[in-house]
Amino acid sequence: MTIRTATSASSSLETHKRHVVSAQELQTLCEELAERLHQWMPLNQIIRIHGIPKSGSIVAAHLQSADPRLIVVYDPKEADCFVDDIVDTGRTQQLYFDRYQKKTYALFGKGAAQNCIRNVPPTQWVEFPWESQEQTNKEHQDFVVRLLEELGEDASRPALLDTPARFLKAWREMTRGYTMDVKLKAMEIEESLFPTDTHGMIVVRDIEFHSLCEHHLLPFVGKVHVGYLPYKHTIGHSKIPRIVEMYASRLQVQERLGQQICDAIADVVQPKGIGVLIEGSHFCMLMRGVKKEHTTITTSHLKGVFAEDARTRQEFLQLVRN
Ligand code: ZN
Repeated sequence: MTIRTATSASSSLETHKRHVVSAQELQTLCEELAERLHQWMPLNQIIRIHGIPKSGSIVAAHLQSADPRLIVVYDPKEADCFVDDIVDTGRTQQLYFDRYQKKTYALFGKGAAQNCIRNVPPTQWVEFPWESQEQTNKEHQDFVVRLLEELGEDASRPALLDTPARFLKAWREMTRGYTMDVKLKAMEIEESLFPTDTHGMIVVRDIEFHSLCEHHLLPFVGKVHVGYLPYKHTIGHSKIPRIVEMYASRLQVQERLGQQICDAIADVVQPKGIGVLIEGSHFCMLMRGVKKEHTTITTSHLKGVFAEDARTRQEFLQLVRN
């Protein structure tokens, strides 16, 4: 048996990455976009561009200085096309298309977004030269202020003044799983593998977790139980709760959380079989809708002999319930 290397173990784990656009890169991208606009609209000698507020306006100004045949117009109705810095979900661009029947061209596009110069993974955070971190932070706080107002609150009353900043800080902490260095973690986990010749089942029970339901952005909490039958290695018991934390501290659904924990441990330990059982209470059920206060949702993920052999599975469930 070979133990997977850190890179192969971490390749199955996705993470947030920040891409900081340099002034030089911005220049190059704008030149490329200017050239492409002429290819996309070959009949126009002069192309009238309108930047989608706010960042698109900055891109438009850059484009005009890169190519004098591109003219910035401030009325969207007068434009031949729209320009933007990045296409995230495509929602804004669709809105502009529906309203004016004109396409948007952008420097960056997430995922398979079209009409852009560079495509980046959907989880990539792209930071442009005109966005300082404080500025971005301030804008994010404004979202929370608007949310408070939407709920009917007076966001300016003293007790709420620091709430937007506190809210963002708490959310960053609760979603820390995105920024945990998965590569480092995988290496750390591999270092905690011990050779073994025992063949009994190992069960780590009652690992508490706190996660966030991605449908309602509300918590779900509960316990994870992990059992595995070692093949040649066991893993340090303290590492399993760390893996649980890494995946729980993100936006999740319980089924995926269980699957990710199961896959991550199986990937590194390569056991004969593994089972992950999660019991979760979901605040989106407790606090709203059905309001059944004692409802817990149980999900299980089984691999190897745990999936194939009923007696092994039975033993696992029995050890978890005792
Ligand atoms: Zn929910």
